[in-house]
Amino acid sequence: MYEKERQNLVNQIAERGIDDIYVLKAFSEVERHLFIPEALLSHAYKDVALPIGYGQTISQPYTVAYMTQALKVKTDSKILEIGTGSGYQAAILYKMGAKVYSIERQFEIYNKTRKLFDKLEIRVNTKYGDGTIGWAEFAPYDGILVTAGSPSIPASLKKQLEIGGRLVIPVGDKISQKLKIVTKIAQDEFEVVDVPEFVFVPLIGKEGWKQE
Ligand code: SAM
Repeated sequence: MYEKERQNLVNQIAERGIDDIYVLKAFSEVERHLFIPEALLSHAYKDVALPIGYGQTISQPYTVAYMTQALKVKTDSKILEIGTGSGYQAAILYKMGAKVYSIERQFEIYNKTRKLFDKLEIRVNTKYGDGTIGWAEFAPYDGILVTAGSPSIPASLKKQLEIGGRLVIPVGDKISQKLKIVTKIAQDEFEVVDVPEFVFVPLIGKEGWKQE
């Protein structure tokens, strides 16, 4: 279903500069329409963020592609995602052969997406809780991807990164963020590249924004 629309979307993100063939392949295989509310089906393959309820969104496909490419995912990479949301980003990582761990702080979204993963046989390890403190039990990770905007880079996430691993996180105020691509060069040594201007819902938690 929607194959033509999906291919058009893949072409669009490729034209915008995504050239990792494994990312493009995953985008052509994962069916985004399965991750959004039924009422929005006609928008599934538009390059836009869409509401998924509870004030949250499924990110814009280009943003998902950009962050995934920045992570340099390989088969069997161990990836931690903060902000499971609709499950679409986790499904892309899983399709690329990564071992995915994903945390969501909003209980209804966590539950709904957990059921969707089971139904679609997407084997992602999920956790309900505050992702700003990471998931120490399975650390270190080859990559950590944060899908909500943070006021700063949580120290716990830097700590749980493997040496040589990458953390991709939007950092800024609540209106707009820069994407930070952080590479752990050595224990306590990090290289940071900034990419402007992205817009995300806030990362709320102990090492993120405080709940209002
Ligand atoms: N990756 C998601 C997708 O593919 O649909 C994008 C989800 S949305 C842009 C960001 C998600 O981060 C929301 O579902 C929100 O509840 C969640 N979130 C915010 N703060 C969080 C935290 N501290 N820990 C875990 N999840 C958090």
